[in-house]
Amino acid sequence: MAKVMAVNAGSSSLKFKLYEMPAEQVICSGIADRIGHDDGIFEIRFNGNKIRKIVPMPNHAVGVQMLLEALISEKIINNLDEIEGIGHRIVMGGKFYSHSVLFDKEAENKIEDLCDLAPLHNKAHLVGYRAFKAVLPNVRSVAVFDTAYHQTMEPVDYIYPVPYEYYEQYDIRRYGAHGTSHQYLAQEGAKFLKGIEHPRIISCHLGSGASITAIRDYKCVATSMGLTPLGGIMMGTRCGDIDPSVMKFACEKTGKSVDEMYQIFNKQSGLLGISGISNDTRDILKASDTGDKRAILANDLFVRRVADFIGQYYVRLGGADLIIFSAGIGENVGFYREKICDAIGEALGIKIDRVLNGPLRGVEAVISTPDSKVKVVVIPTDEEVMIARDTYSILGLK
Ligand code: ADP
Repeated sequence: MAKVMAVNAGSSSLKFKLYEMPAEQVICSGIADRIGHDDGIFEIRFNGNKIRKIVPMPNHAVGVQMLLEALISEKIINNLDEIEGIGHRIVMGGKFYSHSVLFDKEAENKIEDLCDLAPLHNKAHLVGYRAFKAVLPNVRSVAVFDTAYHQTMEPVDYIYPVPYEYYEQYDIRRYGAHGTSHQYLAQEGAKFLKGIEHPRIISCHLGSGASITAIRDYKCVATSMGLTPLGGIMMGTRCGDIDPSVMKFACEKTGKSVDEMYQIFNKQSGLLGISGISNDTRDILKASDTGDKRAILANDLFVRRVADFIGQYYVRLGGADLIIFSAGIGENVGFYREKICDAIGEALGIKIDRVLNGPLRGVEAVISTPDSKVKVVVIPTDEEVMIARDTYSILGLK
């Protein structure tokens, strides 16, 4: 038995989950949030308890320090030596990593080099990694890449039709993201695919960030996010795929710079941009229920884009045996699942059971009818357990 910490460090937050492995039992979980603010938040849950503190949180190191202090003061563990491994989520592994690796100096340098491709994410991951390294210098770490699962894509699925030199010289290509989630969903999906020889899965991770992946024989064939997580389907605040000319035209019309417009595509577009209300589907659903036209349009657009990608991947895979809905929207909101299945239903022979689908929240379930041509399921994703599994196995813990 070994205790392993799964860490997801962002620019202003650091989420953590401590596991007892290989049992995969969660010992505690929590977040240091609003890092960089005087009213930072530290929250930890353990044994049915929850502690929440509002404290100055100038940097990630303070969050890590609070976590380690809480582990001891709350007697969650007796000694920091009990933590034998730390797994860090890394958004961008570029072309270099098709699986998780020991987080050594070489990996640290590579992840730093890859900051060009994912400046906000990779920089924050390194800050998180270094904060843990400073206080637990002898505990080994593992880097778990969001892009790794997508490295099985063929060139025809990851090359962009821009001058080929851009790929050769600058590594401009599709990398995808959410790979850890899609891999988990594929593995969990296996239980619905017994007896099928070469299973074809379309997994829909629909959260505030959202992506869809085409999977054959449990390997990624194609995925919707692109060079960065901005590509693919419409998301909470990201536009997803649009005509690249929109960038030039919108800059000219608004007088904004490319950098400013890039921020707008990332932070003020998607469901937020169309609805003008929120990036959160809970707010949008409330507004659409009262007849708000832009909220209704935001819902329709989101459903259309997801349905179109599912259709594309159905063709790419030559059919599908399983469609999986997951993440905040996919797990919790029957409304979108139903609308999406209605949009693809006629073409793909998909039928869902409206009673089963309706109230479902955050639990694993089949929502298609027995005569549906494709099985449709909801599977809550769990990226942290994947991080803990890889950390445990790569460090050879026992
Ligand atoms: P991320 O991990 O990318 O931050 P999540 O997968 O947690 O995102 O998804 C968060 C989103 O899921 C919210 O912004 C909201 O749109 C949607 N969501 C979560 N729970 C519900 C719910 N009960 N009803 C409606 N929408 C929900």
